[in-house]
Amino acid sequence: MKLFLFICLVCSPLFGGEIEIFPNFIVYTGMGGNVSYIETDDGNVLINSGSPEYAMGVIEKAPEVKYLLTTHKHKEHTGGNTYYSETGALVVTHEKARKHLKSIGLKKDGDNYISFEDTYKMNVGGEDIKLIYQPNAHVDGYYIVYFPRRNVIHAANISNGNNIDVLINTSKELINLTTENIVVIPGHGDLLTKADIDMYIDIHTRIRGLKEQGYSLKQIIKSTSEEKEGLYNWYFPDSENIISTYFKKLR
Ligand SMILES: [Zn+2]
Repeated sequence: MKLFLFICLVCSPLFGGEIEIFPNFIVYTGMGGNVSYIETDDGNVLINSGSPEYAMGVIEKAPEVKYLLTTHKHKEHTGGNTYYSETGALVVTHEKARKHLKSIGLKKDGDNYISFEDTYKMNVGGEDIKLIYQPNAHVDGYYIVYFPRRNVIHAANISNGNNIDVLINTSKELINLTTENIVVIPGHGDLLTKADIDMYIDIHTRIRGLKEQGYSLKQIIKSTSEEKEGLYNWYFPDSENIISTYFKKLR
């Protein structure tokens, strides 16, 4: 289940929860998209603002925001953006996403945003935060948020939904940042560990390998359901569907 949610082929509100990653760092799940809220002595940081239907819930839980980090323009992560930008938060966005002012809740003549190109480093109340642009990933102007001292990444969605290679390469880039104790906050659903990401890359690699050897989708599904631990069959409640989705997207 975790794996499926990580790549967000279907973006829908699935869970509602509140997880304290470390003191003053809380992840709210089930807000359309996951939202991270970090309180510091120098103002609070919010990563993404949920989908429009959950925006009020996010605002209730995260009422005071100095910096609103917007990982990308999609509506399930920007529902509260207009409210926050109109009430004084500084929106931090990638240069390419800035073009879509309306989707990220900014006015044309507004000056309440920061944009960047490759990486952007912030220190808010002693908390180091690094924003890293992911070219060719989920969508234009998409970035991940890395807390190097905390070993936490808010990765939102790493899939562009069409190209498995891009997906795998982005995942590998994440892996380069990760250590055994890493916590990855995906766009939707449960938090992930390094083992989850390793497995996620592995499953794609294996499906690719079988396809290149000439196996048909039907054969892959059949062989993996016969092989007890093959392709982590035990891991997915709906492995057949997922294998089929990946298989079709391989180029
Ligand atoms: Zn998205």
